[in-house]
Amino acid sequence: MGRDIESLEQNPGACLVCGFKGHDEYAVFCQHCGHEMQPENFCTNRHCVKNHDEDNPIPCRKNARYCPDCGEPTILKEDGRFDEPSA
Ligand SMILES: [Zn+2]
Ligand SMILES: [Zn+2]
Repeated sequence: MGRDIESLEQNPGACLVCGFKGHDEYAVFCQHCGHEMQPENFCTNRHCVKNHDEDNPIPCRKNARYCPDCGEPTILKEDGRFDEPSA
């Protein structure tokens, strides 16, 4: 019970294709099948301190729905990756 939800919370980098977990938090490709992992999770607010340097923005954590610095949605949130099935 609750095992899947728990593992999702603890493994934001689980491969969407093969489900392999245990990647480095910032892995770009799956270590098991080579599929590209989630892109970096940037803040959508152009004026955020994280995006101060446009060529080298600071990513939020991959499981962050909102930027911890400005509260704007992250790109993964905007992309619908955190959308939950409506009850
Ligand atoms: Zn994989
Ligand atoms: Zn921000």
